[in-house]
Amino acid sequence: QTAKPESDTIFGKIARGEVPTKFIYEDEQCVAFNDLGPQAPTHFLVIPRKPIQMIEKAEDSDEQLLGHLLVVAKKVAKEQGLDKGYRLVINNGVEGGQSVYHLHVHVMGGRQLGWPPG
Ligand code: 5GP
Repeated sequence: QTAKPESDTIFGKIARGEVPTKFIYEDEQCVAFNDLGPQAPTHFLVIPRKPIQMIEKAEDSDEQLLGHLLVVAKKVAKEQGLDKGYRLVINNGVEGGQSVYHLHVHVMGGRQLGWPPG
C-alpha cells in the first residue's frame, strides 16, 4: 500500500526534486539527505522514491527495495566517515515516534549513542 497523492509528504516532494535538497546519495530507487534537525553529528535519512507511508505498509513485493535501503545506508555511512559505528532507526506510527509518513531510515553517528532511546 502506497501513499495517495493527497496524502503526499515533504519527503515525497524531496524525492521528486520539488523541494531543493542536497542529496548525499541518489539512485533510481532511493535518495539520502541530511536530517533538518540532526540528533547526532552525522544524521541522514535514506528514503525510497516510492512513497511507502511506513514500514508497516510495505508489501512483500517491496522486499528488494527494503534491503536496498539498508545497503545504501551502510555504504553512505562509510562515505560519511562513520568508522566507529552508527545506528539505523525506522520509526513506525504514533508510538514509534514517526512524524513524516513516508518511509525513511535514520542513520546517526559521530558520537557515543545511548540505549535504550526514550
Ligand atoms: P520521524 O520522526 O518521522 O522518524 O523522522 C522525521 C525526520 O525528518 C526528523 O528527524 C526531522 O528532523 C526530519 N525532517 C522533517 N522535515 C524535514 C525536511 O523538510 N527536510 C529534512 N532534511 N528533514 C526533515
